[in-house]
This record gives sequence, structure tokens and C-alpha cells, in this order.
Amino acid sequence: MKNFWAVGEISNSEVTSATPEVFGFVDKVSDDLLAETDLVITGSNILSLCHGFTKFGQALTIMIESDEFESGDAGLIAREIADLAISKKPYLIALPLSPWGQEVAARVAGRLRWPLVTDAIGIETIEDKVVVERMAFGGQSSTKVALPQGSVITVHPHAGKMATPVDITTTLERIEAATSSSDVRKVVEKIIECASEGPSLADSQIIVSGGRGMGNPENFELVKQLAKAMGCAFGASRAVVDAGWVDPSHQVGLTGKVVSPKLYIACGISGVDQHLAGMRTSDVIVAINRDPDAPIFKLATYGIVGDCLEIIPALIETLKYK
Ligand SMILES: Cc1cc2nc3c(=O)[nH]c(=O)nc-3n(C[C@H](O)[C@H](O)[C@H](O)COP(=O)(O)OP(=O)(O)OC[C@H]3O[C@@H](n4cnc5c(N)ncnc54)[C@H](O)[C@@H]3O)c2cc1C
Repeated sequence: MKNFWAVGEISNSEVTSATPEVFGFVDKVSDDLLAETDLVITGSNILSLCHGFTKFGQALTIMIESDEFESGDAGLIAREIADLAISKKPYLIALPLSPWGQEVAARVAGRLRWPLVTDAIGIETIEDKVVVERMAFGGQSSTKVALPQGSVITVHPHAGKMATPVDITTTLERIEAATSSSDVRKVVEKIIECASEGPSLADSQIIVSGGRGMGNPENFELVKQLAKAMGCAFGASRAVVDAGWVDPSHQVGLTGKVVSPKLYIACGISGVDQHLAGMRTSDVIVAINRDPDAPIFKLATYGIVGDCLEIIPALIETLKYK
């Protein structure tokens, strides 16, 4: 029996929405290979979270626990996952394409000397091989990779169909982590959560983002107001973050967050590749830009050529009467 491992992520004592997506992504091909998708969860005191992850459809949930996992230390967690993989030999290990997921994935692959395929957007089986489609060049192209047995992948946000809750009995295997922080080299001393405003970019189905075209920090408030009126998160281009108008936790793009909401509204953003790398898989993209030749219009589903400083207040006003 082949086993796929979907590694779940815990943030603020909750299972993140990326977890059922990663599970759903790999589980899609499990039947083709007569494989079983197991869920691997790491953390401290995670049994209390059980209700959040017992119903993805997995036959087996492997919980690796340690008080030292409280901070989500990627080095410690990767070591435990890799050690377990040596004895249990899963066919593949999948993690979310989040900062934590990327760090753990790279370390697990490095320890096991297994190939790592990042940013997976599609999965299929060809003959008896799992073939993963991955984004390349910031999403400008994609490539398909046949995975050898013993591979690690990271899954692009929303690439997987969310696993739907099913009522089956799952076996729980609890493992006390053997590694302690003194066994691994410490690179990150402490992770401090930035105080980002409003809903999180990762979980929002709608994102209103603003760029340098907003002109100044005072005008950027309009982007925040529109996001608030729509009950969603706000994002920003790097130009805005570099200028100090908003906190880096709101940056979307190659060196920021990768998002894939149902609706992405880009206000005063030119749409260069580094920004598009973080949002090009959004379902519907609306661009507002006064330059009709702005590159963002090539990707946008709907384009509005005009001044953000006139259009955004009009949108906010309209939403007030909805
Ligand atoms: C290694 C590297 C990594 C990078 N990573 C990222 C990243 O993660 N994310 C990211 O965003 N960028 C990233 N960048 C920066 C990127 O190359 C661009 O510089 C940046 O995205 C530009 O931001 P912008 O679109 O807000 O600004 P600009 O490119 O200056 O565009 C502003 C747009 O606003 C329009 N405009 C102006 N006034 C108005 C108005 N009143 N109403 C409507 N439209 C108006 C203009 O026509 C223009 O199209 C990276 C760059 C490098 C080199």
C-alpha cells in the first residue's frame, strides 16, 4: 500500500485552511494508485484540535507532539517528519506553500535527499506515476514533473479542492517527538507576528490591493476603506510596502504573500511579473488603472481605465446603499 502524507499547518492554535486543500490536492490521485492519504499534524497539545482535522477522509492521522513545537520551529519539525518518513516510507509528502510549509518542505527534502517540487498547481497520474504541474517563472509558465517514489511537494494556495468532511473512522497515531531544540542548529530565534490590519490575506475570498498609483499613504486609506466595506482583506504592491505606507505582511507577490482569492481588485498597480506571481491564479481579477496600456490589463478579467481616487470613493458610496 502506497501512502501519501498531507502535512497540516497550525497557526494561532487552529488548523489553517491550507490543510484541507493540501489534503484534497494529493487525495485526488490516491485512488488511481491504490494509495491512502494520511494526515500528519505537528504541534504541542494538538489533541484538543482533533475536531478540526479528523474528518478530511483520512484513514490515519499521525500526530507528532512536543512542547517545543509550540513556536512552529521548522528545523525541529522537519527533523521529526524526516525521521518518521525513513521508517514509514511514504510515496510523497505534501505541504502548503506558506512560509512555514516552504521552510519545512525544504528541510525535509534536504534531510531525506528526496527531490522537492515547489508551487504545485495540478496533479494527475500517468501510467503508474504521479505527475505534478508546477508554476515556473513567477507563473508565466508551468511545467510537469513526474515524481519518483519519495518526493516532497509544496501546494499552491487554492490549487486543491478543499477536502469535504466525511464521516469515517480515522486511526490516530500519537508520536512523542524525540528531537529537542538542542539537537538542531537554531537559525530563527523567535517569530514575531506582525500586527496586520483586518482579515488575513491567506483566508480572504476577496482582496482589495493598492499600488503606488494611490499616490500617498493618506490616499491608500481608500483601499483599506473599500476592503472594509467589502468585509475583506487588503493587500499592497511592494512599491507601497517599500515606501512604508503599509506593513510588509500585506505585500502580495514574488517576495510577499501568494494568494488566490475568488476576487482580486488591483487599484493603481501596474502589474509587473513580480506582483502577478503572487495573485495570477485569482479566479476573477478587476484592475483599476488610469493607463490603458498598463500590463495588469493583460491578465485582468475586467478592467476599469480611470482614476482610483475617483472610482474607489464611488464604489464605497455604492456599497453603503447595498
Ligand atoms: C527581486 C524583486 C522582487 C519583487 N517582489 C515584489 C513583490 O513581491 N510584489 C510586488 O508587488 N512587487 C515586487 N517587486 C517590485 C516590482 O518589480 C514593482 O516595482 C512593483 O510591483 C511596482 O508596484 P506598483 O505597481 O504599485 O507601482 P508602479 O509600477 O509604479 O505602478 C503604479 C501604477 O499606478 C497607475 N496609476 C498612477 N496613478 C493612478 C491613479 N490616480 N489611478 C489609477 N491608476 C494610477 C500607473 O499607471 C501605474 O500603472 C519586486 C522586485 C524585485 C526586483
